[in-house]
Amino acid sequence: MQEIYKFYDELGPTKVVHCYEPVSGLRAVLVVDNVAAGPSIGGIRMAPDVSTEECFRLARAMTMKNAAAGLAHGGGKAVVYGDPNMPRADKEQLIRALANALRDIKEYILAPDMGTDEECMAWIKDEIGRVVGLPRELGGIPLDEIGATGFGIRHAAEVAIKQCNFELPGARVVVQGFGAVGKHAARFLVEQGAVLVGACDSRGSIYQPQGLDVAQLIALKDAGKGVVEYPGGQSGDRDAVIDMACDIWIPAARPDVINENNVGRLKTRLVIEGANIPMTHAAEKILQQQGVLVLPDFIVNAGGVICAAMEYKGATQTAALQAIEERLRENTRQVLDVVKSHQVLPRQAAIDLALQRVNKAVSYKRWSVF
Ligand code: NAD
Repeated sequence: MQEIYKFYDELGPTKVVHCYEPVSGLRAVLVVDNVAAGPSIGGIRMAPDVSTEECFRLARAMTMKNAAAGLAHGGGKAVVYGDPNMPRADKEQLIRALANALRDIKEYILAPDMGTDEECMAWIKDEIGRVVGLPRELGGIPLDEIGATGFGIRHAAEVAIKQCNFELPGARVVVQGFGAVGKHAARFLVEQGAVLVGACDSRGSIYQPQGLDVAQLIALKDAGKGVVEYPGGQSGDRDAVIDMACDIWIPAARPDVINENNVGRLKTRLVIEGANIPMTHAAEKILQQQGVLVLPDFIVNAGGVICAAMEYKGATQTAALQAIEERLRENTRQVLDVVKSHQVLPRQAAIDLALQRVNKAVSYKRWSVF
């Protein structure tokens, strides 16, 4: 128990809830971090190996992401112990049990994350109502289907590229992880004239310097196949994407994929962190020293949560996309201005931006320490 107190600081968490129910087998943790800006939004992660510690870190990351995105929401996260691929009836029972356990925690709006999806959110809606990431039929905006995060990445790229001495039309893009974030980021960038030269998924990679057909690659993935089955091009193992020369490299898969030991293999001019914490701070620093611009995760991958917050307000899909475009452009601009004027890492500028907003929101609270 003492161990978790190391996560407590002047920002939060405001509430930590451990849930256990012997009948359904529910074992879950909710961390509601800082809620000065409003009720927290953060996804429910289901995996056999989730941990309380992970939940604390993810909840704080959501506080930073939501604040940086200028949302009237704080950060929170829930983790549920379980195999997300368990039989549907068991999963439904577990998710409904979780919803009931969190029924009275009004500072937390439930949302999807790894291992949970729109259908799970529909069950939660049925139980307690307080949820986002719903199916379209229930008033949701399907953020992964429309590529909300990839759309934001495109706009961040358009702003950042002005500082990189090359242009988007003709820019070579490599995407690590061709899933909800990666494939849509590729699609939106190619629509602006960029060329997707390489991509990978968990099974392998594909490289085609003349350019891959994004629609064809997406169709392959939608059919349950791997990118290595793309006709033509050069296939390789999944980590081959790290070595592919390009202008824009987009990690959109797992955390901690780039570190001090392999960062030297990257041959790119701009990195846009689609995934959460895809590289270590040391690796980001090395790239900065080499003149490679790294746009930090919680600034550039906020499209999904902005979309969820807009859904919560009852906004249309068009309004949600407009909000993503405006905020991603403005935040990228603000971060890059600070990088230029103060010679700091983009991540430091992003942290300062988020903290400034959280602290301001906290200053309006009765329990303010600022
Ligand atoms: P996803 O499951 O749809 O796609 C992940 C892709 O990465 C898949 O193609 C998978 O095959 C591939 N992959 C998995 N392990 C890999 C590995 N070791 N090497 C290479 N490829 C690998 O997931 P997603 O929703 O696209 O999320 C990707 C990342 O972005 C995660 O870190 C997630 O937390 C983060 N993120 C997602 C969103 C969103 O809107 N979905 C928003 C913000 C952040």
